Amino acid sequence: MKTPSFHIIPLPTQIAGAARREVNAGATDHVLITVDSPASSPCRHCLRWALPGERVILFPYAAIPSGHPYSETGPIFVHANECQRYSATNKYPADFRNGRVFRAYDSNYNIIDAQVMDGSESEVVIESLFQNPDTAFVDVRSVTHGCFTFRVQRA
Ligand SMILES: [Zn+2]
Repeated sequence: MKTPSFHIIPLPTQIAGAARREVNAGATDHVLITVDSPASSPCRHCLRWALPGERVILFPYAAIPSGHPYSETGPIFVHANECQRYSATNKYPADFRNGRVFRAYDSNYNIIDAQVMDGSESEVVIESLFQNPDTAFVDVRSVTHGCFTFRVQRA
């Protein structure tokens, strides 16, 4: 079997934990939501859609740090209760094969390429973006809402 040339990077556990502490402390930019429809709230930590009835925290996350032209902070969800960080980092997460856009960044956080899913396998799109030696990482985002879903790095 071919070894994938990429590595999935879910949200770090410490950031999910901090969001859970912040919402309990009443931070105004952290909101607790009970999910009411399927495939509406992707948890960035376990990389699964939260199920109807599950509670999630909505909060702002700086996927691209400040101090760069493409700096970007935007809303993400994590499960309100502890969940297991996605561990199959050599496999593309099955829940996010639709409705994603792939943005390639160089090592200075500049966007150098982007592709919308076009029916090709996610792995094929990612590997084509990594064909460019300047691609340092690829961010996977919602094509409709623009929200950061997860990062992909070279293996
Ligand atoms: Zn989760």
